[in-house]
Amino acid sequence: MTTRRSALRLGGTAVAAAVAVPVLGRPASALPNGFDPAPGSDGVGDPLFPTLGNGGYQVVHYDLTFDFTPVTYDFTAVVRMNARATQDLSAFNLDTDGHTIDSVTVSGTPATWVLSPGKSGQELTVTPAAPLHDGMPFTIEIHYRGNGKAPRLGLTGWKFGTDGGFASAAQSSRADTFLPCNDTPSDKATWTFHISAPEGFVATANGELLHKTPGTNGSTVWHFGLRERMATELIGIAVVKGTYLYGTSHRGLPLRHIVPQGQEEKYGPVVARTADHLAWVEAKFGRYPFSVYGIHIYDGYTDALENQTLSLFSTNWFKLNADGNPAYENTMVHELVHQWYGDSVTPADWQQAWLNEGPAVYYAALYSEERGWSVLTDKMKATYAKLDAVRAKDGPPGLPKALGGTNIYDGGALVLYALRRRIGDRAFDRVMRIWPERFKDRNVSSEDFITHTVNVTGDRSLDAFLRDWLFGAVNPPMPGHPDWKAGA
Ligand SMILES: [Zn+2]
Repeated sequence: MTTRRSALRLGGTAVAAAVAVPVLGRPASALPNGFDPAPGSDGVGDPLFPTLGNGGYQVVHYDLTFDFTPVTYDFTAVVRMNARATQDLSAFNLDTDGHTIDSVTVSGTPATWVLSPGKSGQELTVTPAAPLHDGMPFTIEIHYRGNGKAPRLGLTGWKFGTDGGFASAAQSSRADTFLPCNDTPSDKATWTFHISAPEGFVATANGELLHKTPGTNGSTVWHFGLRERMATELIGIAVVKGTYLYGTSHRGLPLRHIVPQGQEEKYGPVVARTADHLAWVEAKFGRYPFSVYGIHIYDGYTDALENQTLSLFSTNWFKLNADGNPAYENTMVHELVHQWYGDSVTPADWQQAWLNEGPAVYYAALYSEERGWSVLTDKMKATYAKLDAVRAKDGPPGLPKALGGTNIYDGGALVLYALRRRIGDRAFDRVMRIWPERFKDRNVSSEDFITHTVNVTGDRSLDAFLRDWLFGAVNPPMPGHPDWKAGA
């Protein structure tokens, strides 16, 4: 913390020198519409990650060239960003972690830069040769290199498989271990990727495969494009020994999946279930929000993650449960629900994460109930019993002290269950279906959800109802279940 502050003072000194000439003898504050460049902030005020993201600009597009060598994990890369200044800007920051920066240019002109420690990685402070005007479009080009296993200041998003390859799992603050970026969910951009894979390996990225071209030393460069905007946390790049499997949904949406080489027969029927899951979720929320979907199954990962258009799953998920049911499909539905709730409609900051996890848990449990594998109400009753203790320790669902707890997952689902009990199935279905249509491609907060629910239902009392459930120190009574008790 102390080090970061001193490094920023260094940046401030350089900035002052750079902008002294244009305002010399004429204080900027005295000019009508005066040009008054200042450094962008080193964070966007995320309550859970104070130095995640950066102020003063918004990224419009990321173009990432990534040349990775399996087994050694060395890579060289170039990121080109189209951005727009949101203030008069003398310097600005990017989030990065563990890379060697070789060069930085801003709108084609070399810029000066300095690396300093942040709270969840490093801050790359860039000072352009000339300050930028508010509203001005500009480009940033950074040549950098590193190693997937290099030490980091923050958590790493690199996941290594037994094949010598890797996959990215960047949520919540780890995209900066793949590229310098504006690593906040509040700055969504479109993306293109150019990822090199040597013979025997395939590359993946979010969005559609556009084409492949020959690379150096017999490698192939895979070019992908994502038309819809995406937050950095959802980056889904990989270079693996995998096999692409293809399909279509019930309405013709292209599906592409990646499974481990040699295990196509085992995982083919698993990934084929995605088409039914899409039909089920589209019946709840309407059209899938992107132009392609699929899942990537990889032994380098131990969890499941909703990378945009390409959810990532551990190979360990896909076993029958004790009753002989494929209950892992609940997890497949969970990550698919996130494509609407989390990926297309994205929380403005990480304290709003129940808006991702609540619906994903709720609808996965509903799917499980419809398949006869479990009972939603039983799960919700058990959650109710323990949530008061969780609220006290980790914060209520709408004000978590950290990510990953019961409060935002099962607790978020319980908030939705309570809302459904209060307003009935039909009104609840309308609230949940209209939300991803109305807020498609945007950032949202709990306040937006409260307003949305009141607007859709016309019931102003739901404002206080949802506030009690989201922010209260204890569970309100569960509508229709007055017997439910904390700890019981
Ligand atoms: Zn989730």
